[in-house]
Amino acid sequence: MSDQNLQIRLAKRPTGAPDASCFREERGPIPEPGEGEVRVRNRFLSLDPYMRGRMSDAESYAEPVAIGDVMIGGTVGVVEASNDPKVAVGEQVLAMGGWQRYAVAKGAEVRKLELPPERLSLALGALGMPGLTAWWGLTHIGQPGVGETLVVAAATGPVGSMVGQLAKRAGARAVGVAGGPEKCAFATETLGFDACIDHRADDFADQLAEACPDGVSVYFENVGLPVLRPVLPLLNDHARIPLCGLVAHYNATELPAGPDRTPQLLGVLLRKKIRLQGFIIADHFDEFGAFAKEVAPAVLDGSIVVREDVVEGLANAPEAFIGMLTGQNFGKLVVKLGD
Ligand code: NDP
Repeated sequence: MSDQNLQIRLAKRPTGAPDASCFREERGPIPEPGEGEVRVRNRFLSLDPYMRGRMSDAESYAEPVAIGDVMIGGTVGVVEASNDPKVAVGEQVLAMGGWQRYAVAKGAEVRKLELPPERLSLALGALGMPGLTAWWGLTHIGQPGVGETLVVAAATGPVGSMVGQLAKRAGARAVGVAGGPEKCAFATETLGFDACIDHRADDFADQLAEACPDGVSVYFENVGLPVLRPVLPLLNDHARIPLCGLVAHYNATELPAGPDRTPQLLGVLLRKKIRLQGFIIADHFDEFGAFAKEVAPAVLDGSIVVREDVVEGLANAPEAFIGMLTGQNFGKLVVKLGD
């Protein structure tokens, strides 16, 4: 039924971890672009942790998806019809096309992509929002120096893998944290991390300390408490913490059990004169050009390694998304929608 538009809509807001009942499939006519708009046939949909936040109506930096609306998401695809003279039919573009096969977008809001067609999905990962996130957080906050140790979790995902590889290029030691031996082996053997520790290991904290004999000067925060807690005693004076994401907590419905560790955290920040700064990459899309100039050549010639986890078919997007929140993905998670 490829002559119809297949969409995945938000059926209800999750409490805790989302399940299949939070999503609803809908088929409908292929949309027609209005004045100044284009129709894109989406080839790949990006699945990202931030989407969990958009499913909820808790206070956030962005509006939630309304119940019944198409799930939000970045897409890459090919323009099929255009009512914008600046965007030609056949052009490859990046858009916020959502979880659907065909999307209509304002011509002014799509970005033309120069990538070879077989590498188009890079614009959703290493050469897109997650890659920019890694680069921005390191360039403006983390600033790893030669010989310093950086720690990053979700080390084989699109943000973490870029963080580790950029840190290495800056002359730092990169220590990854990942879920399971296979991901850890990939981080050290293929991505070039100096060490990678499995956060599921019973002696995770001891192994992490062993891997950081000179302490930690940059902790790129992707995950939250399960990794921050063992990193905290390792932080050096003047360490920097780009606060990028807290994926371990996105499904939480209550505060973690145990004592309130806020005073301990604040005490370490104070005594060690640590800089912790949150950032939302959407505020910095204007720096995409500088990022691409620095990083794109290395991605395209393979000196920065990219791993994608490609799921076939839009109908499988909900299951893949739910799994990503607990580490079922191995690499940048994208959904292939067809050629
Ligand atoms: P990933 O593709 O790496 O997927 C998330 C990963 O998080 C999982 O694969 C899993 O990896 C890890 N994870 C999940 N739960 C836990 C846990 N309890 N403990 C340790 N690790 C866990 O995601 P991205 O690279 O796309 O995103 C990484 C982070 O960056 C997220 O927090 C995301 O929200 C954030 N982000 C922030 C942006 C911003 O503007 N501030 C922009 C883009 C991303 P594993 O199996 O290895 O543990």
